[in-house]
Amino acid sequence: MGKESHLEKSIENMDHLMNLSAGGILTIDINALIHNYRILVRQAYPAKVAVVVKANAYGAGVDIVAPPLYRAGARVFFVAHANEAIELQSFLPKDAVIAVLNDLQPGFAPMAADLGILPVLNSLDSILEWQNLCKKYNKKLPAAIQLDSGMNRLGLDSLEFEILADNLEIFEYADIKFIMSHLACADEIDRKDNFDQLNRMKVMVERLPKVPISFANSGGLFLGADFRFQLVRPGLALLGIDPMGEKGKFLRPVVSLRGCVIQKRLVPEGAKIGYGGTYITKKPSRLATIAVGYADGWHRSLGNKSAAYFNGVRLPIIGRISMDSMILDVTALPEHVLKRGDYVELIGKNQTIEDVARDAGTIPYEILTSLGRRYERRYITA
Ligand SMILES: *Cc1c(COP(=O)(O)O)cnc(C)c1O
Repeated sequence: MGKESHLEKSIENMDHLMNLSAGGILTIDINALIHNYRILVRQAYPAKVAVVVKANAYGAGVDIVAPPLYRAGARVFFVAHANEAIELQSFLPKDAVIAVLNDLQPGFAPMAADLGILPVLNSLDSILEWQNLCKKYNKKLPAAIQLDSGMNRLGLDSLEFEILADNLEIFEYADIKFIMSHLACADEIDRKDNFDQLNRMKVMVERLPKVPISFANSGGLFLGADFRFQLVRPGLALLGIDPMGEKGKFLRPVVSLRGCVIQKRLVPEGAKIGYGGTYITKKPSRLATIAVGYADGWHRSLGNKSAAYFNGVRLPIIGRISMDSMILDVTALPEHVLKRGDYVELIGKNQTIEDVARDAGTIPYEILTSLGRRYERRYITA
């Protein structure tokens, strides 16, 4: 009896226990996500907005992010790999189109067709494979075709394009839902390369049957109406990050992160801090150790560079980032203000993902997609 009530009590306390067991709290604001989606829908009109939710929705959690996007009207979802598409199917109604940007690996086409996954065909090889499958099944299976308009990463190159333009059989055998291409410099507003790619794309699609065109990612969406065609593919902007800094001020940040203080200490002048002793205190200092490290996606390059915030006060990271923790100089705070068990802001009002990315010498995409799996996740919903 006593045991049982103890168990009941701990189940009651589960929420509370969870809060005390993770090194950090990652908060995903679903309201902000949907706000951003609606902003993009308005901005893109009359083009439609497909949502890119690859890499676990850029670290935000595809299981959490995809259903509200569907409810808000999104019907086309992009992932990178076929296994991401299979996972995503379990979170979405059957009428959601799930497209695989990286094409299918040879031999996977029958499986994809059975599952109802839409491949982005990136080469003549895979176009032929899909076409043969359509013939075999005697069915116009849906697919998309990607053309390379200047990035040299994925899609038919100019030689392959010529062959396609001379033989349009795939458009008869398969149900080609859209033709797409991807911009290499969409986050740089003044790059002539964007217009070169746009012009190349226009010339190419002129020679193909009229199907919807998809060209712009988050950055491209803001480059102008010409870039939007019929279907845009934002990912990053959904998370409230403006790829170009200016234009997206009306987007709201979706992700915030706090790290837990697990120890405080006072050190004298000349103390060597962390692995390798790469930081030496210049005066007696108060330190706080935070339970977030590079295994949680707090990049090692942030050692001796970035900071955390508490009550709006900047607390510099000193020494190297460890796997599971990092050290802050909290001398700027009054002695008893920050206690063991308190949380400092790592991503939030005082420090954006863009700030962290800059300090880490990388881009917001990499900060987001490396956010760790050990955080307690909290979701803000309406
Ligand atoms: C990742 C990706 C997108 C989304 O890009 P964002 O910059 O996050 O908007 C769109 N299209 C392709 C082909 C991609 O690989």
